[in-house]
Amino acid sequence: MLNPFENIKIPPKTEDLIKIVLDRIPKIGGKNVKEREIKRILFYKEQLQKYKDFVLQFPRIDQLHPFYRENIEIIADIDKVKMCLGAINRGVQLSFNIIERYRRLIKSSDEKEANRLMRQCFGRVSSILRSRKDCIDWLIDITSQLKKLKAIDPNLPTIIIAGPPNVGKSTLVSKISSAKPEVASYPFTTKEIHVGHIDTGIFKIQVIDTPGILDRPMSERNSIELKAINAIKNLNGIILFLFDVSNSSIYSAKEQLDLYKEVKSIKSVVIPVLNKIDDKNEELYKQIKENILEKVFEISAEKSIGLDTLLNYVINLLQNGQILDKRDIYLNSG
Ligand code: GDP
Repeated sequence: MLNPFENIKIPPKTEDLIKIVLDRIPKIGGKNVKEREIKRILFYKEQLQKYKDFVLQFPRIDQLHPFYRENIEIIADIDKVKMCLGAINRGVQLSFNIIERYRRLIKSSDEKEANRLMRQCFGRVSSILRSRKDCIDWLIDITSQLKKLKAIDPNLPTIIIAGPPNVGKSTLVSKISSAKPEVASYPFTTKEIHVGHIDTGIFKIQVIDTPGILDRPMSERNSIELKAINAIKNLNGIILFLFDVSNSSIYSAKEQLDLYKEVKSIKSVVIPVLNKIDDKNEELYKQIKENILEKVFEISAEKSIGLDTLLNYVINLLQNGQILDKRDIYLNSG
């Protein structure tokens, strides 16, 4: 699914749009004075159409995939977005009405009055825009940010790789992806997310790591990070939780197990995976393994050990649709 914000054409900000009109007006001529002034106000109308198109292109928030809705919520108040869309729409409509009224006035006016009427029209429309400047400019900024959300497709079956920092998440993404993973920026983390794909020949799977998201205890999280977890929750897939069982692990067995327990509450299927098995620390390995009741996979992402077994298991689950959360597929209205 295409990012529903990706194709929105970003209009100029309020003062920039007014300036475009102001700069252009002296250059617009006509067969006579009245025609010239009408052409000038119609040029303003043409520019305002950019705001109208902007509002029209904005996806219907209630129909957005929850993954995108959560992403909006991280950077903006959804009620404010709706309010601003309405305010811009009404402002444009009001301006169109004013322009139409002045067009008729100029048409039936004295030639000497035409220029004054055009300037009056310009002033009135500009003040309508300026009274909505906060909304217009804010929504333009928000949309510019949302346009950048690429690479993650919330409708693809997804393998989400979680675990503390440095356990090998991004290494695993790159090892199991068919091509070089893309690097994506999302409002829910300051770190870059790696997004790869696996083509099973029957369907495509997306694989992402989650730096800065599912990597530390919930109690240490702020509200934005909690929303980030909601965004991840809304992805259609399963979590592979990576443990580091190597000699170089910076986390104890308890720290890793505590986080694993928390992550298990996020998605229905969380598969425990012991990584760095090529450099196994027997004590750490034993402590972790003893405390997990579920089926455990042992891999070395770096040395490509155990990856096929793990992948076959995951693909099988995805193929049988066992792990997909039973929820509607949200349609992109954009
Ligand atoms: P992330 O922070 O969880 O994404 O971890 P990275 O993928 O960046 O890996 C952290 C470090 O662990 C890097 O130096 C990797 O080379 C190393 N590493 C990753 N997988 C393995 C593995 O299977 N065995 C060993 N010995 N090192 C690994």
